[in-house]
Amino acid sequence: MASRCSALLLKHGLSLRCPLSSSLHRNPHPPFRTFWRSFIAAASPNFANENREYVIVGGGNSAGYAARTFVEHGQANGKLCIVSKEAYAPYERPALTKGYLNSLDTNPSRLPGFHTCVGSCWERQTPDWYNEKGIEMLYEDPVTGIDIEKQTLTTNSGKLLKYGTLIIATGCTSSSLPEKVGGHLPGVHYIRDVADANSLISSLEKAKKVVVVGGGYIGMEVAAAAIGWKLDTTVVFPDNHLLPRLFTSSLARKYEQLYEENGVKFVKGSSIQHIESGPDGRVAGVKLGDQSFIEADLVIVGIGAKPAVSPFESVGLSNTVGGIQVDGQFRTKIRGILAIGDVAAFPLKIYNRISRVEHVDHARKSAQHCVKALLTAQTDTYDYLPYFYSRVFEYEGSPRKLWWQFYGDNVGETVEVGNFDPKIATFWIDSGTLKILKYHYVN
Ligand SMILES: Cc1cc2nc3c(=O)[nH]c(=O)nc-3n(C[C@H](O)[C@H](O)[C@H](O)COP(=O)(O)OP(=O)(O)OC[C@H]3O[C@@H](n4cnc5c(N)ncnc54)[C@H](O)[C@@H]3O)c2cc1C
Repeated sequence: MASRCSALLLKHGLSLRCPLSSSLHRNPHPPFRTFWRSFIAAASPNFANENREYVIVGGGNSAGYAARTFVEHGQANGKLCIVSKEAYAPYERPALTKGYLNSLDTNPSRLPGFHTCVGSCWERQTPDWYNEKGIEMLYEDPVTGIDIEKQTLTTNSGKLLKYGTLIIATGCTSSSLPEKVGGHLPGVHYIRDVADANSLISSLEKAKKVVVVGGGYIGMEVAAAAIGWKLDTTVVFPDNHLLPRLFTSSLARKYEQLYEENGVKFVKGSSIQHIESGPDGRVAGVKLGDQSFIEADLVIVGIGAKPAVSPFESVGLSNTVGGIQVDGQFRTKIRGILAIGDVAAFPLKIYNRISRVEHVDHARKSAQHCVKALLTAQTDTYDYLPYFYSRVFEYEGSPRKLWWQFYGDNVGETVEVGNFDPKIATFWIDSGTLKILKYHYVN
């Protein structure tokens, strides 16, 4: 035990920076630990967290999988603290634009049904689970600052937290339209968390005409959901076809046809010039670049996301690809600070580049890899094949439920197999070599 702990200390530079810390790690005897906790409490009465050895900032998808991995290695109880901006224990975020948005008469998903790690068919980690495992949860109090010398964090409410090892798991925030174009009018929605989804549902209940801004996967999932609510739905996007970063034009055309058969209208090659309000101050419609006007009492914006790095910018952890730069074990350049999930800019070995991946499979796997590397002698670097999926029109009564998956990267020439009736696959072939760069399957 002693040598394993010392090796880990050396590997990750973990320490609570106290004269007694090395003895602490060498002696796991309970009475000593009790003494140590009282010592910390007495010496530093201002720290608001009891569990200080490992602190995760962010209580989302990757935090839930990280917590599970800490528990698997017997390192959670009394040691792990999760600090979250949200009011809920970690959950499987993709549900928010799928089952969660089902109309109220078609059995919508709700918490606690989709807490992590149900997305991997593992145990559902409800708030009670965290309690039972001795994991300290601090809710609704985002971290706003860090002092890497003192190994402390400050929170929005003014709390001071101590960490030995810090894992940054803050994910992304939705990109928004500027206030001056009406991007924050009542009736304009973005969707990133349960609070956003609840607010959107209360607007869906009253809405008649919906404009979705953005033809990416979030836009297409909410457009499908709006059809489930039987709403007049128009999707506006600047490109020639939907999902331009992922789909070929041939694939997109077939996908668009399915949406059109379900009643969705598309306005392509167009962007929003202004979101107009009515006499009640709520959204009344959108004015497009060509000055045409689409009436709407609900606008849902899905124009991408930005990594949530702001509390850590002051310590120089950001990368040119926008996130927090880490190595193949999710370690940043600062000893004892790691980053996982959407926010991490990591070496994507298979394509030999630094990447961020904003998808749930990576959130889960990066969390597990990071925590295993932290707590064990594992030295493998993360070797990841990007994987991403979407599911639409899944509600009861939908004429056709649809599910697709991507693996890899979309580089090179494409070969399409199948005709979308009922299935289709697209392969990307790069420099004459068949790698499975991307596989697309529609059911
Ligand atoms: C609506 C929606 C649908 C999606 N659907 C799919 C899908 O179908 N397929 C797919 O592959 N991926 C999907 N994704 C992407 C996937 O959910 C993310 O990749 C995944 O959630 C990333 O996990 P994470 O832990 O990095 O970030 P998140 O799950 O976003 O968690 C980050 C957490 O950190 C909190 N936080 C942020 N800043 C702070 C701070 N300063 N202090 C404390 N807490 C903070 C946030 O509030 C949040 O709770 C979807 C994402 C969204 C938003």
